[in-house]
Parts: sequence; structure tokens; C-alpha cells
Amino acid sequence: MTTCQEPIVIVGAGHSGARAAAALRKHGWTGGISLVGEEQCLPYDRPPLSKAVLLGKKTGEQCALYAGSWYAENGIDLLLAQSVDRIDRHSVQVMLQGGRSLAYHRLLLATGSSINSLTVSGADLNGVLPLRTPQHAHAIADSLQSGSRLVVIGGGVIGLEVAAAALQRGCTVTVLERAPQAMGRSVPAIVSEAVVAEHRHRGVDVRFGVEVASLDGTIGVQSVRLSTGEALPCDIVVYGLGVRPNADLAAAAGLSTDNGIRTDPYLRTDDDRIFACGDVCCYDSRLYKRAIRLENWRNAEDQADTAARNMLGQQVPFDAVPWFWSNQYDFALQVAGLPSLGTETKVETIGRSRLFLSTDAEGVLRGASAIGSIRDIAGPIKEFKTALAATAS
Ligand SMILES: Cc1cc2nc3c(=O)[nH]c(=O)nc-3n(C[C@H](O)[C@H](O)[C@H](O)COP(=O)(O)OP(=O)(O)OC[C@H]3O[C@@H](n4cnc5c(N)ncnc54)[C@H](O)[C@@H]3O)c2cc1C
Repeated sequence: MTTCQEPIVIVGAGHSGARAAAALRKHGWTGGISLVGEEQCLPYDRPPLSKAVLLGKKTGEQCALYAGSWYAENGIDLLLAQSVDRIDRHSVQVMLQGGRSLAYHRLLLATGSSINSLTVSGADLNGVLPLRTPQHAHAIADSLQSGSRLVVIGGGVIGLEVAAAALQRGCTVTVLERAPQAMGRSVPAIVSEAVVAEHRHRGVDVRFGVEVASLDGTIGVQSVRLSTGEALPCDIVVYGLGVRPNADLAAAAGLSTDNGIRTDPYLRTDDDRIFACGDVCCYDSRLYKRAIRLENWRNAEDQADTAARNMLGQQVPFDAVPWFWSNQYDFALQVAGLPSLGTETKVETIGRSRLFLSTDAEGVLRGASAIGSIRDIAGPIKEFKTALAATAS
């Protein structure tokens, strides 16, 4: 492979960015790689933050994707605690906060997503936290003492994982969700009901259709007040209200954005030199014949590899079937395909585990979800993933 003087610059030293740097080396790029990230710590894996770290089984430092020495060993210039403020497509360089600029041969935008903030009064009290970084996870883990009262605002996947970890640590847990179902963006109602039943069975108070009016307390949070006037006493509040793609940098550079950075099936933006991957990427899916943006670990991994290959001149379309997992208590949830495209869901049992097959009006399989032990569900979900690749459209 020929190289040129300019490095490949990756903006966003998160999951997808770090994996893309590794993939560039794997696929033969011998030129420079600059990986720029605004966080202070080494690129890390986020899934353990809401699981092993909250349970005290892992520290945030142990979630690093690679040891610090790995970057220098692989000729990757890792620039931490530095954010890219601007892309100058005309002079083909990015401007870092503080004035430094980096010329690029190819540019990969792996800027991820940011949490939606909680805007009710009292959201700035001590003990009110989101969960995105190792710092958040450590702060939450420290507060999950036996007997503590936790209120989780938002019944999404991360909110339910926090609830599960807190209950296992001896806390009293309430989950508040405005919508009529949990994990509404990710799974069909029947799957959500099955997961919520597991929480309620273990003693979590899960409430739907509730609106939080304010958080009350003096320095630290002491209660959550609902719009009905009811006050729920608490020691800690964790909120998980979804994320939004970090696409402003791309938009300011004149690249197309719409629910993320828009790319073609090769993860290339409308500038031939600039690519996107991970949570921020909204790509034209050949498989589904529509624009799709995914917020999961597998997608961050797979798109990093595809983007790296295509930056090196290959023509590899991103045709992966969406897949994600969650771990709560002693069960796993795995979801393949896009169950939201289904209109009907059929249930099958495998031992004590359950499979949910979502089909559309024509009876075509659109998504498969499973709850149970990994041993029971991993094989069937893998098979359905293959079947879904053939039926997706
Ligand atoms: C607590 C938690 C648990 C999760 N659990 C699961 C799970 O069980 N299963 C699953 O499938 N998925 C899970 N996910 C989702 C998964 O971790 C994400 O989809 C994945 O991290 C996305 O990777 P990414 O590289 O696109 O974004 P990120 O990992 O967020 O990385 C983006 C990076 O870019 C940086 N950045 C942004 N803008 C700039 C800029 N201008 N300059 C410099 N740097 C910038 C950000 O600070 C960030 O470090 C979880 C996520 C969280 C938060």
C-alpha cells in the first residue's frame, strides 16, 4: 500500500475510533494515524460501565480497549483531552481547540453521541447522575450502598441495567418511564413486558406513564416529585433519557446531516475524503433500503472495520444485520434485525429462555429478540441473524 505524508485523522477516541485505528494497521496502512479525543482517559469499552463496574467487579480503568503503550507501539498518535473544533475541507485539515491544526489524507468522524440532559428543576443537585463515562459509573457505584434508595428516570436499556445492578447491591429501586413501555425504541412491547416482569418479580417498582415534575433536596437529592404531586424519597437518581448524535462538527463543515452524519453504504460522507462510523453515522443501508443509525457496540466495531477498509481504497458496503445485547440479573437480552419493522410477534421457548420472532404483514421475519441464558439464546439468534440478512429490505 502506498502512503502519503498526511496522516489519517480520526476524530473521536471512543470505541469506534480506536477500533478504526487498529483496523487501519490491520489492513495495511503504514502512514501516520492521529486519533484525537476530548476525553482524558484511554479509549474504553462502555458496556461494562452499566454492568460489571456498578457491581464492583471491574474498574473503569480495566475497561480500556488497549493499554496505553499499544498506541505508540502501533504508530498511533493518540491526542487525548483535545477536541476538534472545526474541519476546514478547503485546506484539508482539522483545527483543534487551542489552535493546533492537523492535515489529513482521509478523515474519519467517530464522534459518537451525547446524553440527553435532564431539564427539570433540581437536576443539578448532588446525587443526580447520568451514565456514560467511567467517572459516572464510579460515582454511581459508590452510592449504591445496601439500603440506599435509587430512582431511575428513563426505562431504556441502560436505565434497566442500572436498576438490575442496584437491586443486586441491596438498594430499593424505582424506575420511572414516561412512555407506556420500557425500551420502546429497541424491542417490541411483548419483549419489554417480559423484561419488566423480571424486574418486578425481583422487587423493582417499575412505573409507566409518569412525568417527573422536579427533584427536591438541599445539597443532595432527597426526593423525586411526580406531576401527580407524589414525592418519592431517594438517596440517588440516575437518568437515562437517550442520546443524540454528535454531528455538529460535520454540519458546520457543510456535510449532510440528518439524525447523524449522512453517509453512503460505504460510510463515506458527501466529501470523498471524509468518512463516519459508530453512533454518529446515519448510513444508507442497502439491506434495508433506508437510512439507518444504530447505537450499539457491534455496530461501532463493524463500522470501524468497514470505514478503515474504504478509507484505504476498498469498496466494501456496510451490510451488517443490526445486533445488540443487554445483561440484567442472570439473563441476557439479544436482539437481531429491526423488530420495529414487524407487526406481529410470535413467541417460542427454549428451556427457560424465550425467543420472540417479529414478522411483518407479509409474514416476513424482520427481527428476532431473545431473553434467557446465553447458552440457550446465542445460537438461535446467530441463525436468525443469517436468515434476517436474506429477508431484510
Ligand atoms: C453505559 C453504557 C452501556 C452500554 N451497553 C451496551 C450494551 O450492553 N450493548 C450494546 O450493544 N451497546 C451498549 N452501549 C452502546 C455502545 O457502547 C456505543 O454504541 C458505543 O460506545 C459507540 O461507540 P462510538 O465510538 O460511536 O462512540 P463513543 O464510544 O461515545 O466515542 C465517541 C468519542 O468521541 C469523542 N468526541 C466527540 N466529539 C469530539 C470532538 N469534536 N473532538 C474530539 N473528540 C470528540 C467523545 O468524547 C467520545 O469519547 C452502551 C453504552 C453506554 C453508555
